[in-house]
Amino acid sequence: MKRDFVYSGSPARIDFGEGKSVSTGEWVGKLGCKRALVLSTPHQKADAEALAERLGSIAVGVFAGAVMHTPVDVTEAAMEIVRHTGADCVVSLGGGSTTGLGKAIAYRTDLPQVVIPTTYAGSEVTPILGQTEGGRKTTVRHAGILPEVVIYDATLTMGLPVAMSVTSGLNAMAHAVEALYAQDRNPISTLMAIEGLRAFQASLPQIVRTPQDLALRGEALYGAWLCGTVLGTVGMALHHKICHTLGGTFDTPHAETHAIMLPHTAAYNAVAVPDLLAPVAEIFGGSVGGGLWDFAKETGAPLALKDLGLSEADLDRAAELATENPYWNPRPIDRQSIRALLQDAWEGKRPSN
Ligand code: NAD
Repeated sequence: MKRDFVYSGSPARIDFGEGKSVSTGEWVGKLGCKRALVLSTPHQKADAEALAERLGSIAVGVFAGAVMHTPVDVTEAAMEIVRHTGADCVVSLGGGSTTGLGKAIAYRTDLPQVVIPTTYAGSEVTPILGQTEGGRKTTVRHAGILPEVVIYDATLTMGLPVAMSVTSGLNAMAHAVEALYAQDRNPISTLMAIEGLRAFQASLPQIVRTPQDLALRGEALYGAWLCGTVLGTVGMALHHKICHTLGGTFDTPHAETHAIMLPHTAAYNAVAVPDLLAPVAEIFGGSVGGGLWDFAKETGAPLALKDLGLSEADLDRAAELATENPYWNPRPIDRQSIRALLQDAWEGKRPSN
């Protein structure tokens, strides 16, 4: 077999295991820092305050204002606290929204980040930051955005509601599916993507039935690390473009949009690269799109864009935007095929392939 690839490993340090968040202070010290600002969403403020309490004198404050899509005005408010407290690092406790705020601060200040993820979205291991200003979302990729340390502690995901566990897991799975056909894929990204998909296949349906099973939560978090890492190392294609278009222009919720679109975009691309997507069919059973759709249905994920408040009339505009400046994709994209794909996703149809 002819092999031809470029590989660079992620420099992020990963500390994975039940209860590992007790070593947060130690990691702050290993980064040479003494003044940590703890970040969270308003919803997780009490957890962030408890963490700050445990960190003792190395925690100089808590900013619990993180919100979805990293609005620049929220970052500016947090930057005020950074300056005021003289923080020399941030500790982000939460999902992609909190991680996004920590990345936005690091992008502006180069402060090191310790991230303790509590969802399965995978943002903590990518050098990618999406920010919004004046209703527009822009994305930057920069080495300084990648968090230095990530502590994966499944005990902190026990409170993640089942529906959010499922959708954030499917969000992460979408990174892995697109990594399988990425132009710049390499043997390691493919191995990680397949292992990540296996981890979610083995955990998400069971988490729905027994959400308090710590070992299952750990397996999903393992999937999050793997799928997030491939998002951070290889390029994404049609699926991410469509989800950014829907979220950016029609304000559809991030994780749910990924969950609904994944079977459809995977089925679309499976026509062009059946061999590269064969592991998906093998892991989820049957066909690529059909297997993913059955999996989403089994876990109770949303299946139809119409249930996210998108009107059928919006689909024309969505198809137009999603095919403007398209990302590289293994199957050529044209407005008519994308319009048809969006129609199926809007209706919640099971893909046939
Ligand atoms: P989120 O961070 O927005 O969290 C959703 C809600 O769940 C919040 O209120 C949060 O406080 C709460 N929550 C999180 N963990 C909890 C827990 N364990 N128990 C109880 N409540 C909990 O959700 P998300 O899906 O993780 O993140 C979505 C955001 O992440 C989007 O803005 C998306 O663009 C971004 N994202 C970025 C990347 C990247 O690489 N840049 C990758 C994936 C997602």
